[in-house]
Amino acid sequence: MSQSPDTRHLWMPFTANRQFKAAPRMLVSAAGMYYTSDDDRRILDGTAGLWCVNAGHGHPRIVAAIQQQAAAMGYAPLFQMGHPVAFEAATALADMAPAGLDRVFFCDDGSSAVDTALKIALGYHRARGDAGRIRLIGRERGYHGVGFGGISVGGIAGNRRQFGTGLPATDHLRHPLDIARNAFSRGQPEHGAELADELEQRLLALHDPSTVAAVIVEPMQGSAGVILPPRGYLEKLRAICDRHGILLIFDEVITGFGRLGAAFGADHFGVQPDMIVCAKGLTNGAVPMGAVLLRAGIHDAFMDAAPADSIEFAHGYTYSGHPLAAAAALATLQVYREEKLFERAHDLAPYFETAAHSLKDLPLVKDIRNLGLVCGIELESRPGKVGARAYDVFQRAFHEKGLLLRVTGDIIALSPPLVIERAQIDELFNGISELIKALD
Ligand code: PMP
Repeated sequence: MSQSPDTRHLWMPFTANRQFKAAPRMLVSAAGMYYTSDDDRRILDGTAGLWCVNAGHGHPRIVAAIQQQAAAMGYAPLFQMGHPVAFEAATALADMAPAGLDRVFFCDDGSSAVDTALKIALGYHRARGDAGRIRLIGRERGYHGVGFGGISVGGIAGNRRQFGTGLPATDHLRHPLDIARNAFSRGQPEHGAELADELEQRLLALHDPSTVAAVIVEPMQGSAGVILPPRGYLEKLRAICDRHGILLIFDEVITGFGRLGAAFGADHFGVQPDMIVCAKGLTNGAVPMGAVLLRAGIHDAFMDAAPADSIEFAHGYTYSGHPLAAAAALATLQVYREEKLFERAHDLAPYFETAAHSLKDLPLVKDIRNLGLVCGIELESRPGKVGARAYDVFQRAFHEKGLLLRVTGDIIALSPPLVIERAQIDELFNGISELIKALD
């Protein structure tokens, strides 16, 4: 047992701090599929940390790459200066990306990558002499990080209310979750593609389409409770954006790097966006890093608009392409490829799906949604207390079953490392099943 730290000083993010500090859950080490808690218990990681440790914890190749880079050069700027590992990581990422998205801008994390993509969209239209395209459209229940751009196009009320109005000229489509018609769908639900038509209706009824720069969606909405696109929905969004000269951005911070059984959600769904935002699994969560992948044509518009001796894009971070992050990304992408982890996720998905849906007939289970190695189990709300039951399951899973889950509202979300074994999938769902049965 390690000594308990003083918990007064750290203001924890997205945490009920007073509740947590009254009964802390502390993690002190991790390997493979398991964390170890400060009271020396093994905790099976059902969420890949925070949807990021896709290759499992402490992968030796990734650890070694970070160690070697830290010893060789811990920091160098990427402003007017280069270091080979950043270029190598960009090449490896472009090689993994859907064909055509082969330009890479490195950022610090998912939030900064989202804001970067939105700025690229606005700057792109301007560079082409179309400066009237200023509007950005997201979706209800969309999560795009916590930058001002991200919360403005994001659609989670609780993440916006404390901070005033956000960016002007944003709008939101409805989300496509329709439990009445699609409850307990396996994979993509059947009903709801027509919700994408709302984009065209709003463009024509409310906004002049020539004022819209970009539409940003998570191909599968993660943080707000695992909401899958109905069949045909993303294809329709793509067609509407094409008709009106609007860029389509996929926020793949969660769906990137094998979560759905392909490198990116764009590959899985067979729909090509103009930009992809990624982070998390890019470095296996080991060092913070995000990236925007974009079409060469978007990049080239900036190059063509600027004089040859001037900065083309007035944007970047001290840590863009940070050497440790780039080394971690390079090693992580190699691990994904060489260990065929995306294929593994694809092959395991049917087993995971069957295990998830074995909870279907439990009392209080309202819906189960899944795709690849991600699943959301939605519970009936306790009257007057949204999220209370799911939080109970989460708490007791940690303390009594040694399982790490994630909760968001009434939804229990699972997204284990792609290296999970079948027996561990059973352990996860059996544990959750017992805890749900024990609810009031
Ligand atoms: N976009 C999506 C879809 C995400 O899920 C997240 C993080 N959960 C982000 C953006 C923000 O990433 P970060 O927390 O690294 O800023």
